[in-house]
Amino acid sequence: MENKLSQAFYSKALEYIPGGVNSPVRACKSVGADPVFIAQGAGARIWDVDGREYIDYVASWGPLILGHAHPEVIAAVTEAAQEGTSFGAPTWREVELAQLICQLVPSIEMVRLVNSGTEATMSAIRLARGYTGRKKIVKFDGCYHGHADSFLVKAGSGVATLGIPGSPGVPEEIVANTISIPYNDLKTLKEVLDTQGDEIACVIVEPVAGNMGVVPPREDFLPRLREWTEQRGIVLIFDEVITGFRVALGGAQELYQVKPDLTCLGKIIGGGLPVGAYGGKKEIMNQVAPEGPVYQAGTLSGNPLATAAGLATLKVLSRPGTYEALEARAEALAQGLAEILKGLSLPVKMNRVGSMMTLFFTNQEVVDFNTAASSDTKLYGRYWRAMLAEGIYLAPSQFEAAFISLAHGREEIDETLNAAAKVLKGLI
Ligand code: PMP
Repeated sequence: MENKLSQAFYSKALEYIPGGVNSPVRACKSVGADPVFIAQGAGARIWDVDGREYIDYVASWGPLILGHAHPEVIAAVTEAAQEGTSFGAPTWREVELAQLICQLVPSIEMVRLVNSGTEATMSAIRLARGYTGRKKIVKFDGCYHGHADSFLVKAGSGVATLGIPGSPGVPEEIVANTISIPYNDLKTLKEVLDTQGDEIACVIVEPVAGNMGVVPPREDFLPRLREWTEQRGIVLIFDEVITGFRVALGGAQELYQVKPDLTCLGKIIGGGLPVGAYGGKKEIMNQVAPEGPVYQAGTLSGNPLATAAGLATLKVLSRPGTYEALEARAEALAQGLAEILKGLSLPVKMNRVGSMMTLFFTNQEVVDFNTAASSDTKLYGRYWRAMLAEGIYLAPSQFEAAFISLAHGREEIDETLNAAAKVLKGLI
């Protein structure tokens, strides 16, 4: 494959940026490859610096549910940029976006905008701790909530991809307050809540896990989680940084009809620009400075360009029929893949919730991190490299989701299925 320019940029990047990348999984190490450098994108397609075209299922790791360079998003960002890029004083788009988020996600009565998903989750647990006066937090193995100290315990995403338990530099005293338990495991959850409930400030969960690959919640997992946290005065935080505005307009909490106390958002609400948000019950959100004593701030928070992109994205998503269209495309892809896999004796399990899906290279049903980790990552690496050669750009790790966007039409789905049929046969 002709990739001279990507190689040249990567060599230079390795000199100036740790590992040559600004976020670990971009390095493509776990799939045995070097990264391709991307030059541009339009709709469902991207082009690398060497001019090769790909159908993109990374979608900037989730934000680009409308596809790349959507005309309404670009127009909104351009208009905003012409008026000035940042003021550090309140601007009208922040209020519009906050209002729209509260309208579309009813459990969010008030919201604070930040700059990334990490900031959102980090601030949400500080708020939960401040509100309850308790120290401990509960999370689930293989879920990823950004890279703040408290979360780097049996985390998903790049932490899982690199196969490391946590991270040097995180003080033991901090993670001593983090309890990580298996996803979908109500028995362990009950035990932990029964024995340590009055020390636990919050339980944070990806309502559909996306960072160990896609793992849906078992039917009673979220309802019990809601019930048991409420009984013990524990703040329930849904980390909907991926699932927010993706699995339904109102996120996973709409899809599964379970209302958390706090919700973390990111990705889609920034339409491809850096944004995060946390919000929820007024009673809790009123504890945030300057209204309350829990401190949290941001120079660029509520940035005009980011809020313009977010508003434009949410407006398109709010149009009738959007999620039905998205589901139809995702279903066509999933059905096509299932059809291909039926005829092959490959150890593959497919998990999908709406427009997020993962093919796990394992024989086991994937319901938690241990079963996800039973996947043959070498085989995934072969699949990834062969798909890339066919012009299909997938997440360079087994433990991530593929994202389908509204820009993935019949043509893109058919091209992907043709590539997958060829590649999967070649793996036997
Ligand atoms: N929470 C979840 C569920 C995520 O998937 C991510 C990022 N993939 C984050 C939090 C952190 O977001 P960011 O990378 O914007 O800091």
